Amino acid sequence: MPPPPATGCRSAPVLKERGQHEVFCGLTGIVWLHRKMQDAFFLVVGSRTCAHLLQSAAGVMIFAEPRFGTAILEEQDLAGLADAQEELDREVARLLARRPDIRQLFLVGSCPSEVIKLDLAKAAQRLSARHAPHVRVLNYSGSGIETTFTQGEDACLAAMVPQLPEKSARELLLVGALPDVVEDQALRLLSDLGIGPVRCLPARRAEDMPLVGPDTVFALTQPFLGDTHAALERRGARHIPAPFPFGEEGTTEWLAALAREFDVPAGRFEQVTAAPRARARRAVAAAAETLAGRSVFFFPDSQLEIPLARFLTRECGMEAIEIGTPYLHKALMGPDLDLIAPGPNLSEGQDVDRQLDRLRAARPDLTVCGLGLANPLEAEGLATKWAIELVFTPVHLYEQVGDLAQLFARPLRRRDLLKLEAAE
Ligand code: SF4
Repeated sequence: MPPPPATGCRSAPVLKERGQHEVFCGLTGIVWLHRKMQDAFFLVVGSRTCAHLLQSAAGVMIFAEPRFGTAILEEQDLAGLADAQEELDREVARLLARRPDIRQLFLVGSCPSEVIKLDLAKAAQRLSARHAPHVRVLNYSGSGIETTFTQGEDACLAAMVPQLPEKSARELLLVGALPDVVEDQALRLLSDLGIGPVRCLPARRAEDMPLVGPDTVFALTQPFLGDTHAALERRGARHIPAPFPFGEEGTTEWLAALAREFDVPAGRFEQVTAAPRARARRAVAAAAETLAGRSVFFFPDSQLEIPLARFLTRECGMEAIEIGTPYLHKALMGPDLDLIAPGPNLSEGQDVDRQLDRLRAARPDLTVCGLGLANPLEAEGLATKWAIELVFTPVHLYEQVGDLAQLFARPLRRRDLLKLEAAE
């Protein structure tokens, strides 16, 4: 691993674009949130389009009783002819009578519910009062206008923060919905380091939701949680800034920041992290053979772009040409930006046509982008990686480093093979 650059990209100029977006909406987050929160239900208040989006994004992944659904706003609702609030109350009463396992109900706003200005905050308050204490009803927006698909999780967690009970005890809060297997690895590493007590937001079950107060310190596991970060700070909790735990270096630096906060002796840190670090380095080395010396271009999509560019340039030997991100939150991204050597073009927001022009001029070896752009770019002979896969695949922490690197190496290997076949 190269030493950290003398100056990183934290103060590099950022190209700010405010044009057309090519992204999925925040409803997509329900696909991973409903798997994480085992007694929650996500009720999208939307149209048939919203229902179809959810079904196609999540359809093949449902193995158990679904924990989400759509309350369809019909034409008379949209035309203001029916009382949508009364309809919603009836729908919720039916759902909760049928599903006594539900302890948290999220009313998720959509473009249609926002167009008719359906007040879901009021509905959540009213329904919470009606169904308390067994069910807590919250609301957030997953609407697609001017958002990215990871904002749904941020909006959901930010909606939960004001409801968390107050407590003044020194605790570490891990914030972000990690797959259970990865969360367990994080909890084991922190326990081996002697850091605790540790709680998670979101918790797997309503009864395990964390308490929060001025003595809470929190670490983000996902870079797209700007609103949740702000909501926790409003409750007096303090953020521990660190690079995000992607790759061996990111994971080590993330753990090191927590270890400093909790005064973990250097010897103990070394003892706990040495073996998984070595495993992670070996796993990256296998993929880096394909990735080293190749160039990568990020379109703004998942909000994971900056930490992943740090991982690919520093651990896999790639060159980043452009790192596009929907939002650049310096308080969250600063530690990752510090580790990226100057050179890549940093852009925030999107003007898709202008960005496509820059991409075609640069012709990178790999383009990380949304599903809508990937197929046409493949047809133009460019190798692509779907950004959404990075959120659906476990990629955090040491044991997933090899899988993370392979996600980027695979499309390059496929293209190399196609070139070989064409040459024969
Ligand atoms: S919330 Fe908006 S963008 Fe998302 S599926 Fe519904 S209509 Fe489409």
